[in-house]
Amino acid sequence: MGAKGMKAAFFDRDGTIIEDYLDEEWTGVSEPVFLPGAIETLRQVRQKGYDIIIITNQYLINEGFITIKQYEKIQAKLLLELEKQGVDILAVYYCPHRRNEGCDCCKPETGMILQALNHYPSIDLKSSFVIGDSEVDVELARRMGMRGFGIKVPIPQGEPGIKQVNEVADVLRYI
Ligand SMILES: [Mg+2]
Ligand SMILES: [Zn+2]
Repeated sequence: MGAKGMKAAFFDRDGTIIEDYLDEEWTGVSEPVFLPGAIETLRQVRQKGYDIIIITNQYLINEGFITIKQYEKIQAKLLLELEKQGVDILAVYYCPHRRNEGCDCCKPETGMILQALNHYPSIDLKSSFVIGDSEVDVELARRMGMRGFGIKVPIPQGEPGIKQVNEVADVLRYI
């Protein structure tokens, strides 16, 4: 860490690392359910020299679907499980704001990546990437001029730097 030209892998959380649900279903969720291949993918991304940063929209909090405590519990369990599996996560940034709150961190707004750059100024965006299962993740990559991978997200054909993948593990072919 802190070395010049640090490579960062910005991972979306819900629908990318763990199972996602309808907003109203999240209210009853207390455990993260890892998606097939996700932990192994994170491990291999680490082995390829990337530091992993999770960036997650949690409008569920300010829109009243989950409490901040519930978010923190799920997140703590997620990190504990990854730690047990020997996968270390450099940082987690989340946006708790309502979608219409006008914040600058709700993806595709760039605030969470800017926070990461503030904390880790040696991140080299050109050798970093964003991966997620939503249009907002891909749009965030575009806005930052970074490589982006959209899991089942439609991408205009031949768009430079942005690729559609079928599942999270597919990213390993391109990085
Ligand atoms: Mg997602
Ligand atoms: Zn926000």
